[in-house]
Amino acid sequence: GGSALDAVQAAVQVLEDAPLFNAGRGAVFTADGRNELDAAIMDGKTQKAGAVAGVTRTRHPIALARAVMEQSPHVMLTGTGADAFSLEKGLEQVDPSWFRTEQRWQDLLNWRKDHQAGIDPTHMYGTVGAVAVDGDGNLAAATSTGGTTGKRWGRVGDSPIIGAGTYAKNGQCAVSATGTGEYFIRESAARQVCDRVAWHGESVAQAAEATIKSVGAIGGDGGLIAIGP
Ligand code: ASP
Repeated sequence: GGSALDAVQAAVQVLEDAPLFNAGRGAVFTADGRNELDAAIMDGKTQKAGAVAGVTRTRHPIALARAVMEQSPHVMLTGTGADAFSLEKGLEQVDPSWFRTEQRWQDLLNWRKDHQAGIDPTHMYGTVGAVAVDGDGNLAAATSTGGTTGKRWGRVGDSPIIGAGTYAKNGQCAVSATGTGEYFIRESAARQVCDRVAWHGESVAQAAEATIKSVGAIGGDGGLIAIGP
């Protein structure tokens, strides 16, 4: 009897606390040895969305994305401003060391030995996401990630970009993606799935597969979860 929006947030928060995944605790490290977290949530019923990028002190970045959606007039906040908004809104704060796991630290040390590639494919796919439909037919999507190992210059991937890594629209679909973010952004992947459903009359499964193929066609790789009404 709960809402799809509450469900996707609850699911992602569990995964953010689990050290196995590249989100919240267990996030990958940036080139300079920090954890910078990205997250987004979208309510398919209202078409409202919230996102944060490069946050460093909020235990549950997905909760902060939801606060942006519900307690600010904005869709996306970044970096120190987003950290300040989190504190102001009373979200649970942690020392940045909360996010650190030895495995991810070793990943960074390995990356530092040989970082010819701008994007390290071995550390992708640990992003977490959830999609849901509730008893009233409302759709929602949520995504949370540490991004890519060795990211720098304030790099932001697809996860917190509405329409790229996260999207939900009632009557169409809800989508959360993982993979080579730069390519998912360029294919507007999450929105593309929904547009294929709405405009092409494709099933959600067909639309998801065609979208992943379109990401692959420009050199990207990854996956997505999607649900229809
Ligand atoms: N898509 C994420 C990003 O590019 C990474 C991932 O899914 O693992 O930031």
